[in-house]
Amino acid sequence: MITGTTKLLGVIGHPVEHSLSPVMHNAALGKLGLNYVYLPFPIEPQNLQQALDGFAAIGVVGFNATIPHKQAIIPLLSEIEPIAQAVGAVNTVIRQDDKWIGTNTDVEGFIAPLRSRGEDWSQIVAVVLGNGGAARAVVAGCTQLGCASVKVVGRNLQKLQEFRESWKDSPLEVNLQVYQVDSLPQIIPKANLLINTTPIGMYPKIENSPLNPELFAHLPKGAIVYDLIYTPSPTKFLQYAANTGATAIDGLEMLVQQGAAALKMWVRRETVPVDVMRQTLQQQLY
Ligand code: NAP
Repeated sequence: MITGTTKLLGVIGHPVEHSLSPVMHNAALGKLGLNYVYLPFPIEPQNLQQALDGFAAIGVVGFNATIPHKQAIIPLLSEIEPIAQAVGAVNTVIRQDDKWIGTNTDVEGFIAPLRSRGEDWSQIVAVVLGNGGAARAVVAGCTQLGCASVKVVGRNLQKLQEFRESWKDSPLEVNLQVYQVDSLPQIIPKANLLINTTPIGMYPKIENSPLNPELFAHLPKGAIVYDLIYTPSPTKFLQYAANTGATAIDGLEMLVQQGAAALKMWVRRETVPVDVMRQTLQQQLY
């Protein structure tokens, strides 16, 4: 029930109508019995500063940032956590002592289903398909896990080189190499952890895969294949992976866990109802 003391959370984006965060967070807040509401805020890029000032004026406690604000918001915030600096993007903002603090929970979200496996990552070669925004969180995540190296594969040489250069001053010590897609036949046999960060195979183009079945046959034994996409589940990419006996992980858990990490900070709780968040998303999506 919204009352005179209800506190405000939300997500800014443009567009933001598609966001699943309101339904996920409001379900969790309801379960916790906390008097908060999480709303979608469609903010056009030129109105970002005005929106921040307005949020401060009306006492917004925190919010998520999605496309196109994840990078643009950085210079407008009072402090940026090291992990968000490393990734070069903020997805979560917290109001603290009249300041806006920016952080990035995508890295924690990405790592969560891997860390729960309790593996020794020091011998693991991670191969990342795509070099966009999500790939940055994945590279940071693989580095935090302690992977031996991270190989990023893309289709545009200039973007790949810019991607590699962008990690040079990072607070994270990243062991990163970049490759064009025609190198995949040489790289796939080394990929103990293979991650798709491209939108290839996402609904409605569900027949597409960023990797063909022939290449899957060359994955090392015991490989883990992770697709950041969560609709459909499984994607064609994960179906091919499962057919070769690899462990398949879809993007739903990353979505849940990045949200849980943000919610813990906003409501200052050690735990939040992750099961409720996951179930709510599953009901919405599938
Ligand atoms: P992005 O910044 O646009 O990056 C997309 C990357 O994919 C770029 O490197 C792009 O290559 C490449 N790409 C796109 N279409 C391609 C094609 N047809 N062939 C080859 N490469 C292609 O997008 P993003 O924000 O990183 O998101 C990527 C995916 O991750 C989306 O499906 C998104 O839903 C998913 N995601 C999931 C979560 C989660 O919580 N599970 C979180 C974030 C993102 P160029 O650079 O050459 O254009």
